Amino acid sequence: MRALVFDEGLKAVDMSIPKRGRGEALIRVSLAGICNTDIEVTRGYLAYSGIMGHEFVGEVMDAESSDLVGRRVVGEINIACGKCFMCQSGNPRHCENVKAMGINGWQGCFADYVVLPECNLHTVPDSVTDEQAVFTEPLAAGIEVLEQVHILPTDSVAVIGDGKLGLLTAQAIHAFGHHVIVLGKHEKKLGIAESMGMDVSHVREFTGRVDVTVDCTGNPSGIETAMAIVRPKGTIVLKSTFYEGTPINLTPIVRNEITCVGSRCGPFPPALRLLETGRVTVEPLIEATYTADEMQDAFEKACTRGSLKVLVDFES
Ligand SMILES: [Zn+2]
Ligand SMILES: [Zn+2]
Repeated sequence: MRALVFDEGLKAVDMSIPKRGRGEALIRVSLAGICNTDIEVTRGYLAYSGIMGHEFVGEVMDAESSDLVGRRVVGEINIACGKCFMCQSGNPRHCENVKAMGINGWQGCFADYVVLPECNLHTVPDSVTDEQAVFTEPLAAGIEVLEQVHILPTDSVAVIGDGKLGLLTAQAIHAFGHHVIVLGKHEKKLGIAESMGMDVSHVREFTGRVDVTVDCTGNPSGIETAMAIVRPKGTIVLKSTFYEGTPINLTPIVRNEITCVGSRCGPFPPALRLLETGRVTVEPLIEATYTADEMQDAFEKACTRGSLKVLVDFES
């Protein structure tokens, strides 16, 4: 099978189809998405080597449960041990022995086939296209904000960052009826948010104060913007991960008694529902689709500054 492997450098290679273990499913990947975390992995984040990728939609070819075979599925990326304290206390995403597909200790989905535990899989409704379904994982990460923070109906929410994650997170919060303003730097991307009914502003021109702000910049300086625009006693949600940080003065957090919440992966079922009901639109977020033979070019495109979601089509 074709696969994009990271081992000090990125290589498109030919390798044998993986074998599934007990309770696991073998999935033929139809479409995969490249995420900023993938780019961070190639910079050394979590010292990963192996097949890249954690966003996909595909078809189950073989599984322990025969009713899964032939189903179109998306898959949660964290593989939990089920035995440790965090697993036993209902937090498998924070398993002490956690592995993450294409990020940490588990082979990724930039390949013709991927193996995942059956309990990680979610069936995709028929009316949701592959192009929509491939956004389930990052959309779920946006929805996680609503799992963690009680945003009041009267609250104002600013999402900082008009990239892939920012536009998905903003849409998720907006879909639940909240007043959302997207702060960014790119006319075109802010235009996408505006066309979806959200308020927008260039980040440097915004002088307001908000109750809740979500940093989706993918940049260590995002928290400084967040500290500047959140009201005293407000909430900052941090969604960016990076290989290297920078020194930041957190005094405003103390002085203004700000609540900071770290936020990573989220629940898949509500993400699939938002896609199914059309309350989140993902098509404008697609920058380009490459064939699997062009995986390396696809990755380069995704690394280009300002690039939106780059997809890899394994059916071509
Ligand atoms: Zn991702
Ligand atoms: Zn565990």
